[in-house]
Parts: sequence; structure tokens; C-alpha cells
Amino acid sequence: MSGRACAACGTKMRPDVLPATFRCGACGFLASDLPVRINAAEAIDEDVRAIALKPIRDANFTQLLDACADLLPPGTRLLDVGCAHGWFLQAATARGIAAEGLEPDRAMLAIAQVAGLPVREGYFPAALPPDARFQAITFNDVFEHLPDPAGMARAVAAALAPGGIAIVNLPVAEGFIFCAARLLARLGLRGPLARMWQEGLPSPHLSYFSAPALERLFADAGLRLVRRGELASIVTTGLYARIRYDRSVGPGRAAVLYAAALAARAVAGLFPSDIQFFVFRREDD
Ligand SMILES: [Zn+2]
Repeated sequence: MSGRACAACGTKMRPDVLPATFRCGACGFLASDLPVRINAAEAIDEDVRAIALKPIRDANFTQLLDACADLLPPGTRLLDVGCAHGWFLQAATARGIAAEGLEPDRAMLAIAQVAGLPVREGYFPAALPPDARFQAITFNDVFEHLPDPAGMARAVAAALAPGGIAIVNLPVAEGFIFCAARLLARLGLRGPLARMWQEGLPSPHLSYFSAPALERLFADAGLRLVRRGELASIVTTGLYARIRYDRSVGPGRAAVLYAAALAARAVAGLFPSDIQFFVFRREDD
């Protein structure tokens, strides 16, 4: 796709390191043309995926809800877009937030509904009644999968009550691991970067935002940045046990691997985290 315009600032984007990816030299926004196949017949193993993802997601949700506790008092009417298994809904509900979800993937929807969570099938905002208004709308690892981020930011502004907030939690272009993977791809090792874009998965990443690009996108929709923070992207809880669980790894080698993982976490701690959150408030004057 030559001549593609940046979703955040309108500048013409240039092809980036991987095929089907593009970068805006003006604001640092990256986009992809990777194919999306939600609800396609071939499914990935959701049980395995859930076990692998749940510890880091739960840790991030606790951190995010702690960081935004003053903005989300009990009773807040909240919509979680693309709620997947409903883990964020469960964490929010436990804090007294009136949380409901939207989910287009029917396998995920079934898991959330079996758990008794108030989840509606479909996409935002089409699946909502036209007069639905929320005090908070959240996108947890969802915004980077959406095909029209600028249109989405405008739809968020329209679905928020006056003074309402949007919380966007996503992997960012400034992140240490993303930058390292992009450097490796430039050197010819493309696997890690392709994995970060989730190439080949049913719902790959279509965007990697820099912080200025995301702020500009929401400002253009009438939403002002009021808070920003980092979430941990490397969880070491149980790491030694996971390394030792592989019987082929002896105690000496496991200790070396564990030390290497701790060192990687320490080095990564000196750089921007790959997972960040941004809180935008609807401006009403
Ligand atoms: Zn741009």
C-alpha cells in the first residue's frame, strides 16, 4: 500500500523493516496490513493461550486499577471493549465498578458468558444501543488491533458521558523489547519482530503507537491526556520454577538462565516499558 497516510498526523508513511509494516517519520506511528481472520475456522488453542497469558494480564490489571483508583470510584459505569475472557471485568467488578464488556470473537464470548459476566457480542460501537453512554471505556490490549484508530477515537468520544474517561492500555513503539526486536530485524533476524506484530495470528497488531501519536489521535477527537503510566512487561513470579520444570535443564544451567532473566529485567527497567497506559478525558466546556 504505497501512499498510505499516518492515522495520527496524516504524513505519508514509508515501508518499515518487515513486509506489510509502515512507519511515519513525523510522529513515530507504525501500522501494518497484516490480514485479520477473527472467527475463522482454524482456532488457536485457547486453553494453552490462557494459561500462558493470565499471570501477566492479572498483574497488569491490578497495577492499572490501582493507578486509576481515584478515577474509577465504585459504581462507575464502565465498558471494556474486546473483553476476551473477561478477566478485566472480573478485576473491575471486584472493586465495585459497574463493568460490562463487548467481544466479537465467539469462542472468547462463550468463555466470558459461561463465567456469568455481562458481555455483549460484537464490535464497538456498532453493537451498542445508539444512546448508550459510559463514564469509562477501556481498551486492554485491543486498540492496537483495530483497523481505523482515528474513527475509533471519535466513536469513544461520542459514547462517553460528559467528563468521562477512556483508558487505553497497549504495547508502544518506544518499548524496550519492541525497539530491540526492530533492531534485530534490521540486522536480518526478523522472527522476534514478526512475533511482536502477531503475524500469522487471527487478530494481528495493526498499529504500534508512539506516545505523541496516540495523544494527538485522541486530542483530535476531543479527548485530552490526563494520565500516563507504565505496566510491567516481564513478570518473574514463578520464573525459576518454570525454568526448572523443564527436566532437561540442570540446576547449574537453570541458575544461569534465571540470572540472565533477572539481568534482562533490570536492563529493561532502564528503558520505557513495552506496555503503557494512557487516560484521556472528554473535554466539555
Ligand atoms: Zn504520523
